[in-house]
Amino acid sequence: MDTAAGGSASALPPPSGSTGTGAEAKEDGERGGKPVMVVLMGPSGSGKSTFAEAVLDGSATGRPWVRVCQDTIGKDKAGTKMQCLKAVADALKEGKSVFVDRCNLEREQRADFVKLGGTLHTDVHALALELPAKVCISRAVSRTGHEGNLQGRTAALVVNRMLQKKETPLLTEGFNRIMFCNDDTDVKKAIELYSALGPLDSLPSGVFGQKRQGPIQVGIMKFLKKADASSVEKSNGPKLTLSERKLGQENPLPKQEKVESGSCSMEAKTELNDNIENEEGAKESGSYDIGYRTLAFPSISTADFQFDLDREPLTLYIVDTQLLIACRRDITQLRSKGSLQCNVIANAANWRLKPGGGGVNAAIFNAAGEALQHATKECADTLRPGNSVVVPVPLTSPLREQEAVTHVIHVLGPNMNPMRPDYLKNDYTKGCKILREAYNSLFENFASVVQSYMGKQNDQPVAVKSASGDSKMKREGGHESERMKKHKLIQPILTKQQHECTGSNAPNYRGNSVGSSDAPNQATKADNKKSGVVASKSWGTWAQSLYELAMHPDKYKNSDSILEVSDEFVVLKDLYPKAKKHVLVISRTNGLDSLADVKKEHLPLLRKMHSAGVKWAQKFLEEDMSLEFRLGYHSVPSMRQLHLHIVSQDFDSASLKNKKHWNSFTTSFFRDSVDIIEEIEQHGAANTNSDDKVLAMELRCHRCKSAHPNIPKLKSHIANCKSSFPSHLLEKNRLVSSTEHMDCT
Ligand code: AMP
Repeated sequence: MDTAAGGSASALPPPSGSTGTGAEAKEDGERGGKPVMVVLMGPSGSGKSTFAEAVLDGSATGRPWVRVCQDTIGKDKAGTKMQCLKAVADALKEGKSVFVDRCNLEREQRADFVKLGGTLHTDVHALALELPAKVCISRAVSRTGHEGNLQGRTAALVVNRMLQKKETPLLTEGFNRIMFCNDDTDVKKAIELYSALGPLDSLPSGVFGQKRQGPIQVGIMKFLKKADASSVEKSNGPKLTLSERKLGQENPLPKQEKVESGSCSMEAKTELNDNIENEEGAKESGSYDIGYRTLAFPSISTADFQFDLDREPLTLYIVDTQLLIACRRDITQLRSKGSLQCNVIANAANWRLKPGGGGVNAAIFNAAGEALQHATKECADTLRPGNSVVVPVPLTSPLREQEAVTHVIHVLGPNMNPMRPDYLKNDYTKGCKILREAYNSLFENFASVVQSYMGKQNDQPVAVKSASGDSKMKREGGHESERMKKHKLIQPILTKQQHECTGSNAPNYRGNSVGSSDAPNQATKADNKKSGVVASKSWGTWAQSLYELAMHPDKYKNSDSILEVSDEFVVLKDLYPKAKKHVLVISRTNGLDSLADVKKEHLPLLRKMHSAGVKWAQKFLEEDMSLEFRLGYHSVPSMRQLHLHIVSQDFDSASLKNKKHWNSFTTSFFRDSVDIIEEIEQHGAANTNSDDKVLAMELRCHRCKSAHPNIPKLKSHIANCKSSFPSHLLEKNRLVSSTEHMDCT
């Protein structure tokens, strides 16, 4: 063990008589046996230390090897680059060959070592461990007792960060030889090569094992430059579809434009990357202020999910030069660092929609701060593979403030990682199907976000806050595309994303919540214009289901959820019932979005809705006499179109999940229908000035008013609480039960 170097030396001692002077190294050189410095390159988990140790252990040629490791150089603790340089210099001067065991992914990081090698007239080799990111991540995450203490969840994040900064080694940096190891076989061969390297041997100069430029990237680059869109479309099918054939296998480009396999030198590769960068730069300066129609998305389901994109030929074809720019950027800093304005970004999320893990998910949640976590929780608790969910980014999120990202679309792809749920056990047929669904869902959701913006812009000027903080007014004219039209009507009784989004049924209360401000009501502009009604508020796309249903109940006539349809209202089972029985009586009057719109002229309608509610409560009482019902409106609803809740007071439901849910049905936020009718009769309008703070109030039993620390405890209490209701609820027929009779005349 060579302690000075902080690592192991080979079993064999250095040449006899070594005093560690430069002169001796020179002498070796003159004898033809020159020490070599091998600069290992690779992120954590790529196997640098294992590689060096394997050579140190396996070499029996008499060449003395030393591993200089920054993680241990400070007396078995992490040290500095300077310490490493000194140890390397010392070892080389002693005639020992050295593995420089640090990441060395950036040119600047390795430059000093290359320079040192030059000064000491040593051969300097680069050994780039270019194993797939997912391999490095899973190794780094799962290892224990790592010298540098980089393991577990942090490791994934660190590996991704490292890889983002990776710069391919070039001979022009000063290396005599560069060797790329792309997989375990390459690594094994390289270990054998260095292990067999005798004291007098040297390895040929040049670049070895470099993988040619990935087919997708090359394809896209060529595509952006020259491809004839029509011929491509012809050969590849419709836009925005995933093909199961690989671009590299059936490249639509003319043959001479393909990059020759194996002939793509490092320099050519760099040039290629530069070209892409330049091209992006040119585009950036011009057209990227259309960020609200721009989606940035990472490759879905790779790293953490161990879905081997190389194994199955699944490729995303791009069929329009305007449609996609391929680039390697930090998705959380597209605007500030990349000059790209992408207001919508996709996240390769995990099933629990939680921050952490590795890769892009951790990066996005980190960059967006807690606000995104809350907003996500408001929209969905979990995500199934093949699905996506749109989360409006709150104004308070740094991602919104600094990068102008308005929506994050969480997407979950297939999972080939046995440690995670929905493990597909290497079933790539199923995996490809799910991956396709995931992309489809992502693009559909993106289309619906775009649609929201387009409608917003068509209808009214919208203040778009730029990252620099100034506001500008934008107006977008023109027509919606066919695709937009197709997605124009939100599909109740549910689109996939809406199911997810409202599925957790977190009330998205305007004013105190996440999404309401961004996406306006699109689906209904035409209807509104026809009837001369212009909606005064904006409603998120997710908030349109009840409206759609009320306007077009015939479309859903076969649905079990619709209990009754009349000219004035629709009675619908609440999709996320907060109690054993929970239905909605939805007004069919266009323009009557919420209580705030109700006037005296609507009194007959309110009475009819109330009577219908009572009728249905009584029907339910016939089935279960123990139930008790309240009928009322949320003072600030989350869903568009005036709707009356008829909710049984057991609150025995898995859909009742959080404080907001509870408080929205048990505090002054819930306005009893009888009181609303009375207020309108007397004042011509309903009081909707409920204080949003009530939704954040402590959890109290709606009967005995005892306080409870959390929802499970509250639920177990209310399941047994036999106290009578507060006196005000026993008045004015506010409760419907088998013992009370309620009517409204
Ligand atoms: P509010 O907060 O008063 O707007 O309540 C909206 C209600 O609509 C909630 O109780 C939701 O559970 C329910 N809901 C949301 N989406 C749907 C849907 N597509 N079909 C039926 N009910 C829904």
